Amino acid sequence: MSHVDSIRTETFFTIEMPFRERMETRRTRFVGGGGPRAAVVAGIHGDELEGLYVCHLLASWLEELLRTTPAALLGSVELYPAVNTLGLDTLTRGLPVFDTDLNRAFPGSTAGPLPDRLAAALMEALAGAALVVDIHASNIYLREIPQVRINQDFDDKLVPLARHLNLDLIWLHGAATVLETTVAHSLNSCGTPCLVVEMGVGMRITPEYCEQLVTGILTAWKELGILASEVVIPQVSHTPLIADDSNVHFLNAQTSGLFIPSASHWTDVRRGELLGTIVSPFRGDILSDVRSPVDGILFTLREYPLVYEGSLMARVMARTGGRA
Ligand SMILES: [Zn+2]
Repeated sequence: MSHVDSIRTETFFTIEMPFRERMETRRTRFVGGGGPRAAVVAGIHGDELEGLYVCHLLASWLEELLRTTPAALLGSVELYPAVNTLGLDTLTRGLPVFDTDLNRAFPGSTAGPLPDRLAAALMEALAGAALVVDIHASNIYLREIPQVRINQDFDDKLVPLARHLNLDLIWLHGAATVLETTVAHSLNSCGTPCLVVEMGVGMRITPEYCEQLVTGILTAWKELGILASEVVIPQVSHTPLIADDSNVHFLNAQTSGLFIPSASHWTDVRRGELLGTIVSPFRGDILSDVRSPVDGILFTLREYPLVYEGSLMARVMARTGGRA
């Protein structure tokens, strides 16, 4: 088998559109030996693009591997870079027309409306994989450091996998705060490990975050026996901090207005330090100060300046507390 035969772009879901067209949702498969299968999913939210670039970088790496040392791909890899094709086409977070967040439609159903059918097709395609990584890019409002978010119900199985991903934070969520209709929850509930990555900001690509995650995904694939142990991959250079609901502090706006940050994202901050101000576009006065409640790391920072009372502006992870 030449390397061209071992790379296949396939349609895993198709539905007839109201006029003549068909919507097709595609994946690329890189087929090696009979070892474990891994998958990377991106673009479930149509305004999040970081994962699409991660898929490009992984495809480029795998194409080179299959051209030079095809026997080193012991298993197989599937890339699903653009799951919500209609949303990506129209710069819409959810599924247009259906006004549905696709990541609230899992596990879906083969007899339901379009979002349910697409969710069911993705579930069927991903079930049984050794590892699924579902990449999200926050939203247009908040910038996030590269992190993995894990439901504490599955932490025994997922934290060891997440440690390979070369990211800076593993955030463990209590079961009460977890949404059960996401692709990750649905896969983990049926025994297929799925890690949710959040990084960067909506509608943008942060190349250094994408490259950091690629190193981590290749490392995980090697650990799982999808790549041969002698394959040379970039060196892991990040060690994750562990956050949980006890050491993450949410900073919500006390007044509506324009948020003007004065601290840089992903820096150490001191208790009481000024992180930004909320100002009025009508008057010269400052409406409120935003200060860090603890010594910690500013890991989420508002990107979109307009805020309403209660809007999230930042998250700080305390240096103390949490599970080591
Ligand atoms: Zn998302």
